[in-house]
Amino acid sequence: MGAGFVYRAVRRQLKTQQQQQNFMMAVTHELKTPIAVAKLNLETLQKHQLDETKRQKLILMTIQETNRLNSLTNNILVSSQLEGSSYSLSKEELNMSDLVKGTITDFKSRFPLREWELEKEDDIELTGDTLLLTILLNNLLENAMKYSPAGKPITCSLHKSNQAIELKVSDEGSGIPDIEKKRIFDKFYRIGNEATRTAKGTGLGLYLCKKIASDHNADIFVTDNTPSGSNFIVSFKIR
Ligand code: ADP
Repeated sequence: MGAGFVYRAVRRQLKTQQQQQNFMMAVTHELKTPIAVAKLNLETLQKHQLDETKRQKLILMTIQETNRLNSLTNNILVSSQLEGSSYSLSKEELNMSDLVKGTITDFKSRFPLREWELEKEDDIELTGDTLLLTILLNNLLENAMKYSPAGKPITCSLHKSNQAIELKVSDEGSGIPDIEKKRIFDKFYRIGNEATRTAKGTGLGLYLCKKIASDHNADIFVTDNTPSGSNFIVSFKIR
């Protein structure tokens, strides 16, 4: 029994080390790529007289790369601040309907080629931290984009019942196998292995979503969408 215990503990330790190593590799890559792309675009703009369409395209691409950098650094910084309890969570009365609407408008302008749908009730009030709730929603929307084909719509909804306020992000991608539905919220966890994974990422996004949800007295979980894909649901309990 003792040997089994030691074996499992060592295996767990090795797995954590492996995940941390993968995370460091992924972060290095995720930080360096947008910097390299943005630098190249700016150098091209500086050296060449391009026509207006090409100029605008390069500028848009550069903005998107800096947006990626921004989300990634936000995730890393906020995760470590929340863990080290150096982040003081603000408890403001906020209009969640407006927050959701503003975020979707932002995604529509950043990614005009994607189809975005919004179903919401107006003036749903919540006590919480605007920055953290925006990070949570950004992560769910970014994942929906990453893990579903470009031609499929992404739907965000916000509704209130007697017991809860429910925020939902649905995509029509490949979905998540039942066995992975809990694990994906673990720190650094990504489905599959490094060789088979094509989408970029660090495995930090959903961990942070779960942390933010629990700091707001909310549950976060995933269900199957029909006919395909996932629904990520954040359910804020009404006290
Ligand atoms: P990352 O996207 O950086 O890998 P996350 O913590 O955001 O990290 O997600 C963890 C894993 O959960 C992802 O690697 C992916 O395998 C899976 N996942 C997350 N969102 C979706 C989604 N909408 N559809 C399918 N799989 C998803």
